[in-house]
Amino acid sequence: MKTALSAIALICLSSAAVADQVSQQATQLEPQVIEWRRHFHQHPELSNREFETAKYIENYLKGLGLQVQSGVAHTGVVAILDSGKPGPVVALRADMDGLPVKEQNELPFRSQAIGEYNGEKVPVMHACGHDTHMAMLMGAAKILTDMKSQLSGKVKFVFQPAEEGAPVGEKGGAELMVAEGVMKGVDVVFGLHISSDTDVGTVEYRHGGIMAAVDPYKIVVKGKQAHGAYPWLSVDPVVTSAQIVMGLQTIVSRELPLTQDAAVITVGSIHGGNRSNIIPNQVELVGTIRTLDDAMREDLHAAVHRKAKGIADSMRAEAEVILPYGDSYPVTYNDPTLMDKMLPTLHRTAGQGKVQEVKAVTGAEDFSFFQKEVPGLYLFVGGKSVDLPKHQAPAHHTPEFRIDEAGMKLGVELLTNLTLDYMQQRQ
Ligand SMILES: [Zn+2]
Ligand SMILES: [Zn+2]
Repeated sequence: MKTALSAIALICLSSAAVADQVSQQATQLEPQVIEWRRHFHQHPELSNREFETAKYIENYLKGLGLQVQSGVAHTGVVAILDSGKPGPVVALRADMDGLPVKEQNELPFRSQAIGEYNGEKVPVMHACGHDTHMAMLMGAAKILTDMKSQLSGKVKFVFQPAEEGAPVGEKGGAELMVAEGVMKGVDVVFGLHISSDTDVGTVEYRHGGIMAAVDPYKIVVKGKQAHGAYPWLSVDPVVTSAQIVMGLQTIVSRELPLTQDAAVITVGSIHGGNRSNIIPNQVELVGTIRTLDDAMREDLHAAVHRKAKGIADSMRAEAEVILPYGDSYPVTYNDPTLMDKMLPTLHRTAGQGKVQEVKAVTGAEDFSFFQKEVPGLYLFVGGKSVDLPKHQAPAHHTPEFRIDEAGMKLGVELLTNLTLDYMQQRQ
C-alpha cells in the first residue's frame, strides 16, 4: 500500500514538473503563436479552399521533422510524431477554414481577403477563430516534438478543412477525413474551440453532449387544389401545415425528458401557394432538429414522422417526411469516463477556479464525427479579455468577432498536457 501510494505521489510530482516545463515552453513560444495566428487571420481561406493555409502548415510541420501527409480530405494536413516507444496514438485536431464575412475590426492584420463561395465573390474572415486553433496546435506540435524523448506512443496532428461546411455539391470536413481513414489506429482525440465570450485563462468542459446533433428535415404536405372560395372542395395543405408546425413543437414540450438534455425543433421555411384565392395542392416545410443525446435524437426523429403523418391523415392530406434533408452532424459527445480521467489535467493546467463545467450548446461541431470513431474530448478555451463585459463580447461569425490572443497560451498547454498525461496513464 505504502509503495503504491508513494508511486502515485511520484507520478503526480513528475506530471507537475512536466506541466511546469510545458508552461515555460508555452510562454517562450507565445510571441510565435501570436505571429502564426496573425498570419492566418490576415490570409483566411474558405472551406475546401485552404490551399495556402495548408502549404504554410505543411512546411512548418516538415520543418519540425514530422511525417507529413497533405491533401487529406481536399486540403487537410496530417502529421505524425513517432516517439519510437510503444504507447497510444493521440490525435489533436484544429480546423482551418474562414467564413464569408467582411471584417470590421481595425487591426493591423485585418483581413481584406476575397474568396468565391458557391459561385459568388465574397469577403473572407476568420470569424470563428479557427486561425487561433491552427496556431495553438502548431505551438503544441513544437513543444511535443521538443519533448519527444518523454513520450510513449504517437501523436497525430490533424489540420482539418471545411469545418463550417463544404460548398454546395462537395464533400469535406471531419466526415470526409474519417472516410479517408484519418482515425484509423487512433486511441483518443482532443480538440478545442476558442470562445469569444469566455474569459482568457478559463477552460470549459462538459460530460456527455457538449454540442448538438444537427438533422435538417423537409416535410412535403400534399393536398388537393381548389378555389379559395370553396375550401370544402379542397384538401387544404396550408391549414394542415399550420397544424403540423404546432404539433412538432409538442414533441419537445410533451414527449422528451427535458431535465436530462435540451432539444430543439425549428421550422425555418414554409412555402406553398401563389395567390389569395387559390388553395394550393402542396406546401413544403424545411427545418432543423438539435439534440444532445442519441436516444432522444432517435425518439424525436420517430415522433416527427408520426406527428406529420398522423396530422396529415386526420386532415385527409398526405405528408412525406425527408429526414435527414441534407447534411447531418452527430452529437459532440465527451466520453464521460475519459472526461473524468482527464479532468485533473484541466485543473492542473488552467489552475484554481479556471475550470468550469458548462451547459451544452445547441450549435454543432463536425469534431463529432471523430468522436463517433474513437473516444474524444472537445473543450472551450477563453478568448475574451477579462475586463470586457460578457454582453459586449462580439459573437462568432460576425464582422466584429475578435479574440484576445492572450487566451491561446492556455490552449497550447492544454493540448500538450492532455497528450502527455493520456500517454502516461496508458503506460
Ligand atoms: Zn463557426
Ligand atoms: Zn468554429
